Amino acid sequence: MFDTHLHLDPEDDPAALFAAGRAAGVTRFMVCGTALADSARAQAVAAGETGVLAAVGVHPHQAADYAGEIAPFRELAGRPGVAAIGEIGLDYHYDHSPREVQQRVFAAMLELAVTLRRPAIVHCREAFADALPLLRDAASAGLRFVVHSFTGTPDEATALLGLGACLGYTGIITFPKAENVRATLRVTPLDRILAETDAPWLAPVPHRGRRNQPAFLPLVLAVIAREKGVSVDEAARRTTANAQALFNRP
Ligand SMILES: [Zn+2]
Repeated sequence: MFDTHLHLDPEDDPAALFAAGRAAGVTRFMVCGTALADSARAQAVAAGETGVLAAVGVHPHQAADYAGEIAPFRELAGRPGVAAIGEIGLDYHYDHSPREVQQRVFAAMLELAVTLRRPAIVHCREAFADALPLLRDAASAGLRFVVHSFTGTPDEATALLGLGACLGYTGIITFPKAENVRATLRVTPLDRILAETDAPWLAPVPHRGRRNQPAFLPLVLAVIAREKGVSVDEAARRTTANAQALFNRP
């Protein structure tokens, strides 16, 4: 299994988290940055651990703190272990950064991904109408990307799938009230689905409300399998192959 989206907190022991994940059958991990400091840590961790990759970028929550220096991210992206530009995007639910700043930073990060020919890991919350044109432009320039922790409508999924996107599903699909997200999952083709924890957040049932970790990914995959009508083994194999195809592309 491939946990395609997790974050490390400063107090986390990465080796212990990955060991627990491997014990649960999770052998591949994507550690996502949200700003320069944790992007650098993600790269360092990925370079030193088998099966671990890193994404570097500026999260929309951090966009207001970003001074516009793309060079350190470009340099980080060339180091061992970095496979993607992320986590980048727009978040109009929390609006931690002004929307026009979020848009400017997202556009700059997409341009970096296109220039470096790296896939992007995209966060989009209540911002679909503004994200779609930016993603359409980037996709027409060759960008491949995943919209992580996807909770949009089937129509939004269809628009993104039309740009070649993968959609990432988290422990949200295990929540009893998330039937709308499971409905979108059901119409997402199996060859476009990625599985993720988004640890340390969004712990799946029955760990909901506690700290999430990659070892909980099988609980997400069990729901993907059930909703797509395949065995857990097939869901694991297919979603892992999807992630390998997205992130291993030169
Ligand atoms: Zn994230």
